[in-house]
Amino acid sequence: MHSLWDFSDFDDHELVHFVTDRESGLRAIVAVHSTTLGPGAGGVRFWHYSATGDAVADVLRLSRGMSFKNAMAGLPLGGGKAVILADEQRTKTPEMLAAYGRAVESLGGRYVTAEDVGINVADMVEIARQTRFVAGLPAAEGSVGGDPGPHTSYGVYLGVRAAVRRKLGKDSLAGLHIAIQGAGSVAGGLARRAAADRARISVADIDRERAERLAREVGGTVVDPSEIMALEADLLSPNALGAILTQESIEALNVPIVAGGANNQLATPADGDRIRDRGILYAPDYVINAGGIINVATEYLRDGDGELVSRRIEGIPERLDRIWDESESSGLNPAAVADAMARRLIGRS
Ligand code: NAD
Repeated sequence: MHSLWDFSDFDDHELVHFVTDRESGLRAIVAVHSTTLGPGAGGVRFWHYSATGDAVADVLRLSRGMSFKNAMAGLPLGGGKAVILADEQRTKTPEMLAAYGRAVESLGGRYVTAEDVGINVADMVEIARQTRFVAGLPAAEGSVGGDPGPHTSYGVYLGVRAAVRRKLGKDSLAGLHIAIQGAGSVAGGLARRAAADRARISVADIDRERAERLAREVGGTVVDPSEIMALEADLLSPNALGAILTQESIEALNVPIVAGGANNQLATPADGDRIRDRGILYAPDYVINAGGIINVATEYLRDGDGELVSRRIEGIPERLDRIWDESESSGLNPAAVADAMARRLIGRS
């Protein structure tokens, strides 16, 4: 039997809170990794786990990830995350969400919740009836909020341009070939902006119709999902799944740059070294994809308008450049540099 302290993902988390509500059937875990910079903020995931240990490992890993992401985005927020353990049918009831909201409220603001996989804006509205410590609600007229996707996309686009400037010495995407994995919210925004800059787009999605629609819109080409990772292009932008950069896929890469919004792109920390060893420039995922959390944070903290959100997102290229500079001077790969910088910021180096 594992104790919590034995989990390999346990990293001196400040709080791990187990929630059971018999009446609604809610079982949830809230983890706060660090509150050094502010309340632990991060989404709640609604997911069926085949073993409780998997849910614990997930919430520990994801909450630490949020500490790093929020710190590197320059936000006055710590890192937290929650998981709701769904049954196999993923039954979700208003009573369950209400019980979850009460649990968040009971933590007195040490954890701020928002949406993640399996939770939508309507669910967030339900949760917000029970707690003040919530973000990711529909934007009221003239205020910040709503879908974080377009903000994430904007940051990814700026990060892509920064990578192109650094690796290819070009100030524009004009004439470059960009391979995009995924044709969803983040990928779509990137493709439209890159196409407006006259880049050539190849796109792959397991939902072929979605890929075709996006390709039509941006005058691009649809590629089979099995081919996108090894496509010859100027840049690969992963915007679908995590853990796609493995020993095998890295050997097959045919691009000088990997820069995209998908979370947890590296399958293992060693894959950061593998990309560097191939001479490929990598943009650490949680730094380039911080646009969404920047919008959510501005909504929660009520400390700015849409204009300020954009200005904050425009800080992403400078952060990436700092990471790449330090990577060059230290020899550490960019993902390892980002982790070390984040640890310093939260006083855990
Ligand atoms: P989305 O659901 O809108 O789009 C994801 C797309 O990926 C879908 O169209 C899906 O069919 C496709 N896909 C799934 N598996 C695939 C595969 N094997 N090959 C090709 N395509 C595949 O999601 P999104 O909001 O655009 O997010 C994309 C990624 O960015 C995710 O990893 C997400 O965690 C990350 N991210 C999103 C945000 C945000 O604000 N939306 C913020 C930070 C990170």
